[in-house]
Amino acid sequence: MDCRAAVFRDIGKPLALERIVLDPPGPTEVMVRIAAIGLCRTDYHVMRGERRVAMTPMVLGHEAAGVVESVGNEVKGIATGDHVVLTFIPACGTCRWCRQGLHHLCAAGPRITRGPQLDGSYRRRDQHGADIGAFCMIGGFAERTVVDQASVIVIDKDVPLDLASLVACGVPAGVGAARYRARVKPGDSVLVVGCGGDGMNVVQGARLCGASKIIAADIVPAKLDWARAFGATDGVNARGEALTRAVHELTEGVGVDHAFVCIDPPETLLPAFRATAKAGNVVVTALTPDTVGEIKIPPLELFVTQKAIMGAVYGFASPRLQIPELLKLYRSGDLKLRELVTRTYRLDEINQGYADLEAGKNLRGVVVVFDS
Ligand SMILES: [Zn+2]
Ligand SMILES: [Zn+2]
Repeated sequence: MDCRAAVFRDIGKPLALERIVLDPPGPTEVMVRIAAIGLCRTDYHVMRGERRVAMTPMVLGHEAAGVVESVGNEVKGIATGDHVVLTFIPACGTCRWCRQGLHHLCAAGPRITRGPQLDGSYRRRDQHGADIGAFCMIGGFAERTVVDQASVIVIDKDVPLDLASLVACGVPAGVGAARYRARVKPGDSVLVVGCGGDGMNVVQGARLCGASKIIAADIVPAKLDWARAFGATDGVNARGEALTRAVHELTEGVGVDHAFVCIDPPETLLPAFRATAKAGNVVVTALTPDTVGEIKIPPLELFVTQKAIMGAVYGFASPRLQIPELLKLYRSGDLKLRELVTRTYRLDEINQGYADLEAGKNLRGVVVVFDS
């Protein structure tokens, strides 16, 4: 069938709104009518050539929620009409990581920037017959998508789909980093560097864990105000050494128990590392452009201070575990979702959405493809 999609064709150019041809689902696949899709910085890194993908054209977009329209004949546990959230790392179910429940580490994960479906073939073509890839095996910037069942999580129908799209990426990435990677405990102190989509959810996650001091750091003053609304106890508008100094002043010269690097690790990792207490944790949740080869940390300082530097993708827990859990926390009023959405856009306004992200105007922009 024909559907509209925002197609990535050239680095540095706006996404192209095109009619593409979408094939029906294969035996283990489902067709999903996209209701809403979040505008995450990761897709923007691809558009700017900072995160390389293996092919163009490609439909980007990985923070999607929608309604199942049809299912292949080998699909289990997913039916037409189900409301679903798509996960940007598929759960193959058979690799050593999936067998341990560590779906965020699935062996198929490294293939999500290549373009084809999980089975290696293509479901999308342009009007000239050329194959179109799907970023994260999702390709969500479109009216419809076809994905393997490994990328699908069925959710209850009471959660609005525009809010459900948020728990596809930014919310589990941030909340999970605090809960499952750093394992923040009641009374701990936390620093969050960069209060965008991920960072604001680290603030929420730290609050859920009972942290007593949550220091938000950003150079956009409005984001510090937002962070306070999400549970931050202090705000610091500084970068580099000034950031480290400010955090030490707020922690009696000790530093924080946990620092989260949620933006631009090449610039922020060392100041965050130095703002962390001895034996503390430094968690990197942000993507570094693959044009950057290394980040320098003084090794003697690492050794004597006995800090841990760790990465966290998808909040370091299976999205199959986290997504239903997060929706429960939303229902009980413990997790803010509506407040994360700064503005909604139509699919043909998607480039404006990314311009607003670049300008620091949005905590999260969401493209609403159809009103659910
Ligand atoms: Zn994302
Ligand atoms: Zn796997």
